[in-house]
Amino acid sequence: MSLIAYLFPRQCILCSKVGYDICPDCFKSLIRTLPSCFVCKKLSHNSWSHNKCSDTHIQYFTGWYMSKEVEKIVEKKRTSGVYSLHEYLLKILIKKLNIEEELLDSKIYPILSKNSSIEKINNHLTKLIDNSNSSNDKLFLIGESLPKNFSVEQRGPLLKKSSRITILCLFESIQSKDSHHYY
Ligand SMILES: [Zn+2]
Ligand SMILES: [Zn+2]
Repeated sequence: MSLIAYLFPRQCILCSKVGYDICPDCFKSLIRTLPSCFVCKKLSHNSWSHNKCSDTHIQYFTGWYMSKEVEKIVEKKRTSGVYSLHEYLLKILIKKLNIEEELLDSKIYPILSKNSSIEKINNHLTKLIDNSNSSNDKLFLIGESLPKNFSVEQRGPLLKKSSRITILCLFESIQSKDSHHYY
């Protein structure tokens, strides 16, 4: 058991039940995201970007909508260096999407962030997937959620070399989901 796990025993993030990062009851209360375009965040078929939104065709997989409440908790875990909740949710998401094989057959990079704790967790999540033997030109970008100012250009050189690009994020922030009401 790591020192951190010893100091902070696992407790459900929502109801504090001991022994879980999130207990089965509370897990059910997280709202699954709908397939959407990574640019405009509106519905899209199979999570592909719309032609009018991005020249590069990119698939965007997300797990759950992040309410203000969940966002605060996730941030607290992340900034204290406790990653077990993120690890748990990533495992569930990969299983749900049935993309284990695809991940092993792709190159995987973290989504860059200006926030150092987000950058750290994104790096951490990326390293959880051991695909060091992959020589494929498929690319996965992985992170907690997509930064508001995200542009595929941040990974320009990688994208040019890739035959297929997928973004995988645990959360879709509700703010960004709401923001399209304003334009
Ligand atoms: Zn709970
Ligand atoms: Zn779009």
